[in-house]
Amino acid sequence: MFIAANWKMNLDKVSISKFCDDLYNYKFSSKVEACIFPSIPYMDYLNNLIKKLPISVGGQNCHYKSYGAFTGEVSPKFLRDTGCEYVIIGHSERRTINNESDNEIKLRAQSAIDSNLKAILCVGENNSHREKGYALKFVEQQLLKCLPNDFKNLLVAYEPVWSIGTGKIPNVSEINEMHDHIKKVVLKSTNKKVKVLYGGSVNVENIDSILNVINVDGVLVGGASLKVKDFLAIYSAAVKHLNNSM
Ligand code: PEP
Repeated sequence: MFIAANWKMNLDKVSISKFCDDLYNYKFSSKVEACIFPSIPYMDYLNNLIKKLPISVGGQNCHYKSYGAFTGEVSPKFLRDTGCEYVIIGHSERRTINNESDNEIKLRAQSAIDSNLKAILCVGENNSHREKGYALKFVEQQLLKCLPNDFKNLLVAYEPVWSIGTGKIPNVSEINEMHDHIKKVVLKSTNKKVKVLYGGSVNVENIDSILNVINVDGVLVGGASLKVKDFLAIYSAAVKHLNNSM
């Protein structure tokens, strides 16, 4: 079970320090893995603050080249060098605001994996695909265009675009159907099994029902991960879920 906290372009040094103070009063479980994705300038700072805790740090994006004249970009090698274990690739905000294409995302995912990062590849339909009944087909095609050619460490995050930051989530059978479909598509095309995270308006109220979905292997949390109380409540729900299912 995996909890990914995508802080996006939020939480400065003072807020990170307060957030981490509260983490030290909490008893983490070895059963649930957590990773925080801070803004790049605070990667080292956060990593130092949490080095005694079982939480890793990750990048919100990386480039498809390791070095070069790419102003403002982040090398996967540099992420690894600053202690990152994971990197998010193809988040819908990168796809829409930064115009990242499926092909570019595939290259970024491959380059992350080649640098020994674990890539979290985000896919998800928009509102109109879902309303017209194309959600499964759209995600399948998007996934096949973005999947790296060769991978060991890849997770997929199903993040319906219409759900990110809106408070709306698919119903549990829609989540289960999509996660099952993603797993089958990846298995058929690569012969590999992947874990699939759900992302989109996960919060303290809906976490239990999301974790109860059979094909959910964890969650990618945006807004709710900015408050330490909510982040820990979501983490605790994952621990409780695992204990109940044993
Ligand atoms: C995200 O941006 O990956 C995300 C899931 O955001 P939120 O939880 O705020 O919808």
